[in-house]
Amino acid sequence: MSRSNGVDLSQLRSQFAGELLQSDAPNYDEVRALWNAMADKRPAVIARCANEADIQAALAFARDEGLEIAIRGAGHNIAGNASVDDGIMIDLSAMNAVEVDTSTNTVRVQPGATLGQLDAATQAHGLAVPVGINSTTGIAGLTLGGGFGWLSRRFGMTVDALRGAQVVTVDGEVVYATEQDNPDLFWALRGGGGNFGVISRFDFEAYPVGPEVFAGLIVFPFEQAESVLRQYRDWVLTTDTTFNAWVVLRHAPPLPFLDESVHGTKVAVLAVCHSGDVAEGAKLAATLEGFGTPVGSHLGPMPFVDWQQAFDPLLTAGARNYWKTHNFTGLSDEMLTVALDYAEQLPGPECEVFFGLIAGVTNQVPTQATAWGARDARFVMNVHARWQSAAEDARCIDWARALFRATAPYASAGAYVNFMTEEEGGRVEDAYLGNFERLKQVKQQYDPNNLLHLNQNIRPD
Ligand SMILES: Cc1cc2nc3c(=O)[nH]c(=O)nc-3n(C[C@H](O)[C@H](O)[C@H](O)COP(=O)(O)OP(=O)(O)OC[C@H]3O[C@@H](n4cnc5c(N)ncnc54)[C@H](O)[C@@H]3O)c2cc1C
Repeated sequence: MSRSNGVDLSQLRSQFAGELLQSDAPNYDEVRALWNAMADKRPAVIARCANEADIQAALAFARDEGLEIAIRGAGHNIAGNASVDDGIMIDLSAMNAVEVDTSTNTVRVQPGATLGQLDAATQAHGLAVPVGINSTTGIAGLTLGGGFGWLSRRFGMTVDALRGAQVVTVDGEVVYATEQDNPDLFWALRGGGGNFGVISRFDFEAYPVGPEVFAGLIVFPFEQAESVLRQYRDWVLTTDTTFNAWVVLRHAPPLPFLDESVHGTKVAVLAVCHSGDVAEGAKLAATLEGFGTPVGSHLGPMPFVDWQQAFDPLLTAGARNYWKTHNFTGLSDEMLTVALDYAEQLPGPECEVFFGLIAGVTNQVPTQATAWGARDARFVMNVHARWQSAAEDARCIDWARALFRATAPYASAGAYVNFMTEEEGGRVEDAYLGNFERLKQVKQQYDPNNLLHLNQNIRPD
């Protein structure tokens, strides 16, 4: 069966090593599904690439057939651009090898790898790349938007650890980009999203970490949130960059270390990760605990790979999700009051607001050094509305938008494109600050016809 959905695959099939799927394939629905169930799209073709030649073949086929192109890493992006109705999904999830070179502390990562696969390979050698906090997220999308997590305060953004990237251009050419070779492309890839070509390999520097860190959760009753967060804000930036703590406002999940009476109540959680000396981590976490009277804490030394999976159960695929984001140079009293007012009205048991602390090394890189340029941002807020039934869409989305609008006066410049929804295309220019003009020029050079437009799109000059 080579033709369904009006697309003839026989030619492509003869040269394609991976799997080609159309709607009649038994695994079509499973493969087309994205993390965010709000994005429910039906590609005419899913090209599950096995190697770089498959990427070239899929791109050539898309050009010849005039198909819209979506590129999928691990399918986590909230905007749902990793799939497309009636077009081609170039699915890279089967290309997920990770090779660590311990003689240079560098890691070669294929574009379908998840953070969990990367962490497992690097931590086997006591190394880590600074990436995000959920192990099922894809390295490709995360890196292309900037990338941050527990280690970013200490080692910088994920893009700051990128040393090279192999790219299949829309013309099918394979180019390698570093600070020295194709430097404009390399600059643009470090935050400019999937606008410039299909990345077939990322090369990172990795840093010695753990393999044990001091980590865990401190859970305060919501009534103490304002006081705890003010103390946290005043204190946390005085600690060494090996320490990190993020704020999560939500209903308490039924965690085993919390008394049943706490389950489902509103709480302010401080999530802690200290990648330095374990005893020092315990001392720093104790200081945080002293900022109020926690209803529960679960802290201790643990393998970094375990901590990297700690939030997975709350972030499983298949729910409906809507996000809104701001950057902040600081958490002012006024902003905290507004955010807490809205958190008090969380529209559902899975909704949350988090403030991720980046600061440290992420702030020490010049604004123009990489396409991700919000180098004064110390905190990134994500308003994460999450729910199960379409009947709840309007209520949850309205809440997220209202909180976003109410906190906008306190936000700093730029925005994290990886937390932006499909409808936020008009925000892209502001997101990139002064780097936007150069991004447009690089787009003009590498994709003048904007074939790769299913992303937070940077239109050619
Ligand atoms: C549960 C969850 C937790 C998260 N936590 C964090 C976090 O801690 N820190 C953080 O920084 N971010 C975090 N994110 C955001 C995350 O960085 C983005 O969603 C990111 O885009 C996911 O990458 P992906 O490869 O899984 O996404 P996909 O949806 O597969 O891809 C996203 C986009 O990237 C582009 N793309 C993907 N692969 C390629 C490629 N090989 N070549 C060219 N373009 C490509 C395409 O434009 C695609 O639409 C989180 C997301 C989720 C859902």
